[in-house]
Amino acid sequence: MRSAELSGVVCCRVPGKINLELAVGPLRDDGYHELSTVFHAVSVYDRITVQAATSWSVHVTGPYADRVPTDDSNLALVAAKALARRRPRGIRLTPVRIDIDKQIPVAGGMAGGSADAAGTLVACRELWGLDHVENDLLEEIAGSLGSDIPFLLHGGTAIGSGRGEQVTPVLARGELHWVLWAGEGLGLSTPAVYAECDRLRAERGEEIPPPTPSGELMQALRRMDADAVAGHLRNDLQEAAISLQPVLAEVLQAGRELGARAGIVSGSGPTVAFLVGSQAEAIDLSVGLAARGPAGDILRAIGPVPGAQLVQSRATA
Ligand code: ATP
Repeated sequence: MRSAELSGVVCCRVPGKINLELAVGPLRDDGYHELSTVFHAVSVYDRITVQAATSWSVHVTGPYADRVPTDDSNLALVAAKALARRRPRGIRLTPVRIDIDKQIPVAGGMAGGSADAAGTLVACRELWGLDHVENDLLEEIAGSLGSDIPFLLHGGTAIGSGRGEQVTPVLARGELHWVLWAGEGLGLSTPAVYAECDRLRAERGEEIPPPTPSGELMQALRRMDADAVAGHLRNDLQEAAISLQPVLAEVLQAGRELGARAGIVSGSGPTVAFLVGSQAEAIDLSVGLAARGPAGDILRAIGPVPGAQLVQSRATA
């Protein structure tokens, strides 16, 4: 058996996402909901570093490190092992040590775990020299691991359909400015938010139409017109997230009063994304929220930004 003996370090930077639109369809027989979502990658990045080691391990640093598992359930480790299983016959790969600098809020609806998985796939492909793993195959592996991971390979702004794993890029030039509010220790479990959404809909006896992307939002994104985008942000999970964490209503209200063009809970929450018109407005809003809003971490970001990207590569065969 040949062995790909590698030494060196590969580093990859990968953004978190917010959802500009999340339309949730009826519950499917397989337990998932049909979704139509518009993903938007924002400039809050985790950094993934991989290097050959004698055993598999993951180490996490950064402000949210204590909330990330370092056992086999870490999505970065799951992704590395899934990629290793796709090696060509007869090749043995070294295990890897994965270091994550965690800057994306954890369990916040910004898909931080999926981001780490996407970054690890890109970094390990490079470290192991798996040139046969073309982007299509990498996306297929990503989609089998989690519905947000294919988008985080691409980044930018994109429509996600199915469970969110089928990704179609949206033509969107220019940039939007965001202020993100991440409630400390406020984690909302994604399944719990979907269950609450189903409960609220059943209570009202609502007919749920098949989810489709909004044409108005697509047009607003093409022009990258902040006010028009603000008018068409939509999240069908927002009501459920607020029902489970009522403080989110206060956060949204504070942002509106402080001049945000719009505010929306990101994905299943509890991160709240506020859209503003410029960097100066972002600074004003973040200062105002820090002074007057409910306690939480406040981050400024722009979007769209590219997905997982190598930033340093010293893999040597
Ligand atoms: P999504 O929007 O995809 O539902 P999220 O942003 O709400 O995700 P994540 O930050 O991805 O949530 O974390 C969800 C859970 O996944 C965490 O509570 C944590 O236990 C687990 N997890 C596993 N691996 C990781 C990782 N590398 N980074 C963060 N969380 C991870």
